[in-house]
Amino acid sequence: MDDHGWEDPRESATAPGEIIDMDSPGATDEYVEPDEYDEKAQKEAEKRLREVLEKIPRDISLILFTSPEKNGPFNAATREVIRLVRQMTSKISLLEYDLSHEMARKWEAGASPTLLFNPEKYRIRWLGAPVGEETKTFVEALMMLGYGQVDMGEQAAKIIEKIDSPRHIKVFVSPSCPYCPQQVVNALKAAIIKPEMVSLEIIDIQANPRLAEEYSAQSVPQTFANEVLVAQGAQPEELFMSSVLSLERQYIFIPDDDAPLIETDLVIVGGGPAGLTAGIYAQRSGLESAVVEKDALGGQIATTPIVENYPGIAQAGGKVLVELMVSHALEYTRIFQGEEVMEIQPGDPIVVTTSRRRFQTRAVLLATGAKHRHLGVMGEQRFSGRGVSYCSTCDGPLFTGRKVIMVGGGDSAVTEALNLKNIGVDVTLVHRRDALRAQEHLVEKLQQEDIPVLYNTEIEEITGKKGVTRVSLVDLKTRKKHRKKVDGVFIAVGYEPSVELARKIGVEITKEGYIKHDAGHRTNIPGIYSAGDVEGGYKQIVTAAGQGAEAALAIFEDLINPYWKQ
Ligand SMILES: Cc1cc2nc3c(=O)[nH]c(=O)nc-3n(C[C@H](O)[C@H](O)[C@H](O)COP(=O)(O)OP(=O)(O)OC[C@H]3O[C@@H](n4cnc5c(N)ncnc54)[C@H](O)[C@@H]3O)c2cc1C
Repeated sequence: MDDHGWEDPRESATAPGEIIDMDSPGATDEYVEPDEYDEKAQKEAEKRLREVLEKIPRDISLILFTSPEKNGPFNAATREVIRLVRQMTSKISLLEYDLSHEMARKWEAGASPTLLFNPEKYRIRWLGAPVGEETKTFVEALMMLGYGQVDMGEQAAKIIEKIDSPRHIKVFVSPSCPYCPQQVVNALKAAIIKPEMVSLEIIDIQANPRLAEEYSAQSVPQTFANEVLVAQGAQPEELFMSSVLSLERQYIFIPDDDAPLIETDLVIVGGGPAGLTAGIYAQRSGLESAVVEKDALGGQIATTPIVENYPGIAQAGGKVLVELMVSHALEYTRIFQGEEVMEIQPGDPIVVTTSRRRFQTRAVLLATGAKHRHLGVMGEQRFSGRGVSYCSTCDGPLFTGRKVIMVGGGDSAVTEALNLKNIGVDVTLVHRRDALRAQEHLVEKLQQEDIPVLYNTEIEEITGKKGVTRVSLVDLKTRKKHRKKVDGVFIAVGYEPSVELARKIGVEITKEGYIKHDAGHRTNIPGIYSAGDVEGGYKQIVTAAGQGAEAALAIFEDLINPYWKQ
């Protein structure tokens, strides 16, 4: 008899640690047979299963927690599945406890049924019954644990190695979902390969409807890592691992390449719209190309909340447009992300040194774009990343329900202020002139949204302790100063071209600071070209893409008939 007056005949008949025979009279709940029962196919499947399970070399200990008052059919089905596999191998042991037992407290089991796998070593738990489609996953888990082998691709293994802080994965599944096993197997692999970092809960939404509701898991499989929704649907192994690593939804997987030296026709520096388009055009012209990007692919679009002026796409989030462009580019060109081009040595071949390798190439396209300007006020650098931000799309959600100022008066500042307001941030725009420079429709939206604007105002200092707490402002007309309590300062005061690399190799720069080029995007150095925002002019996605295409076509023509050799 336990504290709650319920006698579990299985437990009372066995000491903790003993193997329980699930055919014992304790297994009283009814198991519901499937509607359609194909006896022959079932026998065949059982035979094959027995063949692999009986050879399992390692012990697997299962602990099952149940409560007679909760989920009776799920408890019974779990016992039945375990009974079947235990008939096939002596390597699987099972302990079953009532949820009120102290073991349930020790292992923090609260749902019935909860099944733990080798809990002394792994943190893998199944909330629900491994039936229907999920029986496959259950068997897969036993095979991985029993044979001590996880079959994982090289790329996925490399990603999982990079996980260096805890990841708590939850995969919501249902027994009738044919896509769920793939996702659960991905998660099992992560939890088995990296037990010190990765824990896994497989949650059957039918057995756990409240939990499913809490996480709005209305479709399965749905995967959360550290409470962030990282995937809807089943993913290829590498994509799953990179979603778990980055704690973000990932749609595109870019394989890692370890080669220390790569020979190619064209190295494109920068994976913004200019660089990605150039990659497509170069490869389609028959050139081998490689795009090298040091940060996020998509360049400035990656941090653009909404794009409404790219032909054919009436409205899309910046990230959506980036995904479209990157997956299109990947159909043609190789992409090396997370690598910075550090040095370019002109010559024949041109040698490009990145933070990870060297390229020998016949041409280089500088599509390095532009980067945000700094305000240059006291406290800006000190609090950068601690309340001072240049990207509302990236950092805005951290300020929901808090007070911030947005500094600037152009399209970017207004768009970003609207974006902040939209996600519940209390935002005030600070602009040093008496009128905004942003487009009319954006200014109208700003007024409709009631976002306050402090005109003729400049920020003098950002102060705080661990993070930003105040800004000192000055009214440029009256010279009156005042301090304002804020939690964050967002800065959007324009962009400047990224020309350091170009300068280093002697590329001519215009007096406005952009790369000097001819109509074929040729610079003064043979084999070195430019495209996009780094050239100045209209700085738009469509113009950057157009310049990338033009440059790639000019490079193709020049490599066939090098003008520098004539
Ligand atoms: C907030 C915001 C909103 C915008 N909204 C719109 C809009 O609605 N519509 C529109 O048409 N345009 C918009 N733009 C402008 C548009 O995004 C740019 O004109 C366009 O992205 C320029 O493309 P690019 O490829 O020339 O350069 P970028 O997009 O700047 O890409 C350059 C890339 O090169 C990389 N890079 C630089 N140096 C190196 C190196 N040494 N090694 C490796 N990589 C390097 C950078 O990391 C960057 O990813 C917006 C810009 C911003 C900032």
